[in-house]
Amino acid sequence: MEKKSTGFNSKLIHAGAVHDELHSAVSPIYQTSTFSFKNADHGAACFSGEDDGYIYTRIANPNIRELEQAVAQLENGFDGIATSSGMAAVNVVYFGLLAAGDHMVSHNAVYGPSRSIMESLFPKYNVESSYVDATNPQNVIDAIRPNTKVLYVETPANPTIGITDLKVMAKIAHEHGIKLVVDNTFCSPYLQKPLDLGADIVLHSMTKFINGHADIVAGMVVTKTEADYKLLRGIMVNVGCNMDPQQAWLTRRGLKTLAIRVERAQENAIKVADYLEAHPKVEWVRYPGLKSHPQYELAKEQMSGPGAMISFEVKGGLTAGKIVMNSMQLALLAVSLGGVETLIQHPASMTHSKLSDQKQMEGGITKGLIRLAVGIEDVEDIIADLEQALAKI
Ligand SMILES: *Cc1c(COP(=O)(O)O)cnc(C)c1O
Repeated sequence: MEKKSTGFNSKLIHAGAVHDELHSAVSPIYQTSTFSFKNADHGAACFSGEDDGYIYTRIANPNIRELEQAVAQLENGFDGIATSSGMAAVNVVYFGLLAAGDHMVSHNAVYGPSRSIMESLFPKYNVESSYVDATNPQNVIDAIRPNTKVLYVETPANPTIGITDLKVMAKIAHEHGIKLVVDNTFCSPYLQKPLDLGADIVLHSMTKFINGHADIVAGMVVTKTEADYKLLRGIMVNVGCNMDPQQAWLTRRGLKTLAIRVERAQENAIKVADYLEAHPKVEWVRYPGLKSHPQYELAKEQMSGPGAMISFEVKGGLTAGKIVMNSMQLALLAVSLGGVETLIQHPASMTHSKLSDQKQMEGGITKGLIRLAVGIEDVEDIIADLEQALAKI
């Protein structure tokens, strides 16, 4: 039986909790591939759905169900489908919602592989896609075709930190009978709840903020409706891109501290963004908490805080940017984000290198753009690290 939990922080700790009938363990792990039936009739009842007993871990497992229910409750959704990675979550959604002859409209600065898989694999199945700057809603309206079935956005976008108006996207999508899918990885449900703003499906790379400790790769899809849940769960189970119990158990543990981790990282990021913006060697800084962000007001309305992701460009372009990246002593030069450690990376040569120069440019990914994922270290140390690195230019 699940403990009653109402507030967001209480849900972080208790939502979906597994009750261990045998020993009342507070944090049990069911490291098993299969579950034995009491007898043949019980087995038949589990398969028919009359009994909700577990059958096989690719289909469902107590640790995975706990995590699915917890994230679904945090996103105010119907239910969740955990996947082996964030990209598995993206692909479960693509395969579930798109059929031959369909078309998808997406933002031109989404996570690199979310775009490259759509452009390299899906044309083989006669699925087409268009990429536009969704921060201007008119571009989205113009890209919609009679066969458009999905509007896929990410906000703040990666790595340009552009903000897309989710309420407006939901309105446009639903007027055209299209499903709105939002990749909420950069915010986590602590900062933004796309389903409350009108989205139909929200997905996560739980590798990032939800797990938060750079020790797991995992994904999650949360749907608003039961019909979408059943459709997408069927795909996850049959494609076999499920999580395993250990991965789910660790991710559920990481999730418990989501609020305090995001709060601290964000507190640090606000100070780091202010510091960078005032630095004479910095060309520009893009962070939703800065008044200079073109969508500062929208970010304030749509997100409960500006988050921990900052993009910036130093004067002197890529050459100067490389000096900064190579000089960091505390921050790690690594892709990924949302962990407790500060990470710095260069999208044009790393996460978005599969996109052509033209597509990078259209997506606002300039050659000198550096992305900083601010961690929860002492902010004085993070700033001192940037200070000594910038001094080397
Ligand atoms: C990392 C990431 C993904 C992909 O997730 P994996 O867990 O690496 O497969 C998708 N979207 C965004 C925004 C991401 O940052």
